[in-house]
Amino acid sequence: MHDIPLPVVPAASVPIRGRSEPFAVHRIYCIGRNFADHVKEMGYAAPVSTAIADRAPPVFFMKPADAVVADGTLIPYPRGTSELHHEVELVVALGGGSDGIVEIADALKLVFGYSVGLDLTRRDLQANAKSKGLPWDVAKGFDRSAPIAPIVPLAECGHPTAALLTLKVNDRTVQTAPLSEMIFSVPETLHELSKLYDLRAGDLVFMGTPAGVGPLHPGDRYVASVEGLAELHGGIAD
Ligand code: MN
Repeated sequence: MHDIPLPVVPAASVPIRGRSEPFAVHRIYCIGRNFADHVKEMGYAAPVSTAIADRAPPVFFMKPADAVVADGTLIPYPRGTSELHHEVELVVALGGGSDGIVEIADALKLVFGYSVGLDLTRRDLQANAKSKGLPWDVAKGFDRSAPIAPIVPLAECGHPTAALLTLKVNDRTVQTAPLSEMIFSVPETLHELSKLYDLRAGDLVFMGTPAGVGPLHPGDRYVASVEGLAELHGGIAD
């Protein structure tokens, strides 16, 4: 018997604006159906208001930590799909955690900073999973499915609550909405997540996408932004 040398896998990480050390990624959580217009375009009934009584419990799913893709990368068109979709999202980076439920009033204390990213989705596989009542993993948690801009520390940006979230593909605006339209706010989302998981420093939370999701094709170039906060450049390789 020979011992097989095991590779040392470096932690997935995202650059932090203005710092030399990166943000080591622990987990990537995503909330689904968090903008009413996107809920409707996906064929579901939107809540009549964002009042707590009118909201269904949030939909959560995860991506592997090493799904992150650095700013400026051209991503090869993923295998296993012919319908790769863009979803532009605010991303929350946690600098603290909790073993129990985090109250809404305390949740923002866990935030290290913010960024903007894409929740890339193999929409055909998601539609197939939905129709059969199967899990979403293969539609959402695939390699290179989480391009993200450098993280902006809270001290530089504050908590964005109303800034415009926008995605341009080939210089055409395809998604845009103010963050104030999110059904679950950042502290409400962290509270809901903490009912299910121990939150940790290094967690990223993708906050859901507005209407206008659509296909990305080889050769497309995109710019995702949260106005005044962060900008992500990238594309799908030719
Ligand atoms: Mn999404």
